[in-house]
Amino acid sequence: MIIRDIQVGEITLPLTHPFKTALRTVEHVNDVVVRVIGDDGRTGYGEAPPTAVITGETKASVASAVKDFIAPALIGMDLMDLDAVMACLQRSMVHNTSAKAAVDMALLDLWGKTLNAPLWRLLGGARRSFETDLTISVNPVEEMVRDSLEAVERGFSILKIKVGKDGKQDVARLMAIRKAVGANVKIRVDANQGWTPRESVSIISALEDAGLEAELIEQPVSAADFEGMKYVTAHVNTPILADESVFSPADAARVIQERAADLLNIKLMKTGGIWPALRICALAETFGVECMIGCMLESRLSVSAAAHLCAARGVITRADLDGPSLCSEDPFTGGPIFDAASVTLTDAPGIGVEDIPCSVWH
Ligand code: MG
Repeated sequence: MIIRDIQVGEITLPLTHPFKTALRTVEHVNDVVVRVIGDDGRTGYGEAPPTAVITGETKASVASAVKDFIAPALIGMDLMDLDAVMACLQRSMVHNTSAKAAVDMALLDLWGKTLNAPLWRLLGGARRSFETDLTISVNPVEEMVRDSLEAVERGFSILKIKVGKDGKQDVARLMAIRKAVGANVKIRVDANQGWTPRESVSIISALEDAGLEAELIEQPVSAADFEGMKYVTAHVNTPILADESVFSPADAARVIQERAADLLNIKLMKTGGIWPALRICALAETFGVECMIGCMLESRLSVSAAAHLCAARGVITRADLDGPSLCSEDPFTGGPIFDAASVTLTDAPGIGVEDIPCSVWH
């Protein structure tokens, strides 16, 4: 199967609520989509959101990376020589991890279709279904309590609460949510780099004393502050999850070796796709560190690629794949089934998502 063409397009989907974190506010998913066409006419699909505040990529940069650097490097290669194709993709340019992720998943979608097997089975087949959390945006406390109760009503029993905009308010905010949802809902806390190291220790200790029982605290400090993350991990009891600090397998190795965090958050848009993410999984398995799989603001197309990886590898014990639940429309057919908190993989070949709502490909 020779790679005949790689094209880009664009999709826009409205969100149910504006998405607010310590870093940004977003109202639509507006992403670049990629299709890889084989010489037999079969097509694989991928997607990349332009998450400039995290990966530095914009819509224009993703499209240019794919068209001007990645496509020329890969067109004409034999997809069945998958290791060589993936190495060439990663070598085509530095950084631009979301652009690479979109192409990586389109290649793997097409690879699975060519082999007539679902990707999650081809990559390890650990389980057919799993549970995802739902993100609660950072807002005035009454609104966060209302959104949390609404999420529980929709069937979510794990909430990921965004904080980090105003450290002093965060303890009250989180305790109000705990009080409203009760003890049976799991609470994950994501500060999105919003606290200093000392502030993190003081806030997390206060949360521990107040009885929040958070399952984990995600990225309390700045991504670049590796020593700060180590300091926080060493001084609190609640497990710390590294997100923005871990892009590559090398980053993951450093966090594991230096015990800078207890858990790793894998996102395809940071790793550069599933292929590099598999190396993080292998490292994590070796050293007994559990992983979460997350997503940016993405539609069901690219979140489905992450769902295949999650189902494939047992070391991914937590899923934060709520992109499809945050969108108010799902124009796609096929692929994994997202039913509120439960995600179930099918036996359709590849990633399996079809009918991409994009009329112009170039
Ligand atoms: Mg995060």
